[in-house]
Amino acid sequence: MRRDNTARLLDDATPPRDGDALLAALLRPELAELRAYAPESGRFDVRLDANEAPDMLSEAAQRRLAEAMAPRSWQRYPDARALELRAAIAERCDADVDEVLVGCGSDDVITLLLTALGRPREGAAAATIVTTSPSFVMYRTSARARGFGVIEVPLDEDWDLDVAAMRRAIAVGRPNIVFIATPNNPTGGVMSEARLDAVIAAAPDALVVLDEAYVDYAPRSAIALRRRYPNVAVLRTLSKVGFAALRVGWLIGPAALVREVDKARPPFNLPAPSQRAATVVLRELGEEVARVVDFVAGERTRVAAELVALGLEVAPSAANFLWVGTRRPAAEVHRALADRGVLVRSFHAGGGRLANRLRISLGLRAENDRLLAEMARSR
Ligand SMILES: *Cc1c(COP(=O)(O)O)cnc(C)c1O
Repeated sequence: MRRDNTARLLDDATPPRDGDALLAALLRPELAELRAYAPESGRFDVRLDANEAPDMLSEAAQRRLAEAMAPRSWQRYPDARALELRAAIAERCDADVDEVLVGCGSDDVITLLLTALGRPREGAAAATIVTTSPSFVMYRTSARARGFGVIEVPLDEDWDLDVAAMRRAIAVGRPNIVFIATPNNPTGGVMSEARLDAVIAAAPDALVVLDEAYVDYAPRSAIALRRRYPNVAVLRTLSKVGFAALRVGWLIGPAALVREVDKARPPFNLPAPSQRAATVVLRELGEEVARVVDFVAGERTRVAAELVALGLEVAPSAANFLWVGTRRPAAEVHRALADRGVLVRSFHAGGGRLANRLRISLGLRAENDRLLAEMARSR
């Protein structure tokens, strides 16, 4: 006789399972290798660890955003299609509205892509992604949490794409998605155009996602590649130019892709206040953003030169942070700085050539000065 679940639950003779055993039977095995994202807790005078923009929004802009965010009606859901915001993005990015997919930060868009584009290749047990090492950790985390295989291809000694190695990984791994951040996080540089081109040309059967989270700080964008290749999409965000609190990111890609991924998107993934504030940022606050970007670019040159003068190595940056080589182990420098109230990001856990690397976001002038003063004692 077949016992259904109800019968099982009512059966006193079944010994209760302990909670851990129950979870172990239910959880994806890949979760065992992941850790929840936990920003360093504790109080720090200066936080230069998350690539946020310096706090320099004008009073007028703050008032305008507050006014725009106040809901017209609290009880209504937001616009499920985020039409106004998507129109503002489309205009900004020279795209059609149906080529724009919005998410609660680009993190959300990454998970949506992985959810939708998850079909294993013929003969493979799971779908795969290819990305670089180092790169943005969410590609790996999000992919593993959905059961994808992950192939990370080391960048070359200048932190640029290693085309031959990428080609091999693509040929062997047959990825569904190739994620490339340019400018890259945490290394800060833009990938050279010819190499990007070569990698995209080597992956005609995959979606190639060019993540341009830091494009506002960069001398050039790779977005034109999406006109040359049908398999290219571009990720953007408001988080790195002063609006991380809104959680607004988007994908520009082929309309057919956007239409399909949209089926996996929770319809109300972007709160109404964020939709409206982001529309205001894109339509009205261009000068505010330009002021932040110019300021950061100036500080990037100044702080990099000061760090070099302290004997540290600084990679060329096209972003709002610096990728800094330390002489002592980065873990020690990171701890020494943190003990003195300055938080930066260390990548020593990655080992190898990352053991001596710190990623330092650029802040306000006084914050950067404090970083430099503490670095002079801690390096
Ligand atoms: C910060 C960052 C993101 C995440 O942006 P959100 O829009 O805040 O989710 C995406 N990609 C890269 C490379 C980043 O550094």
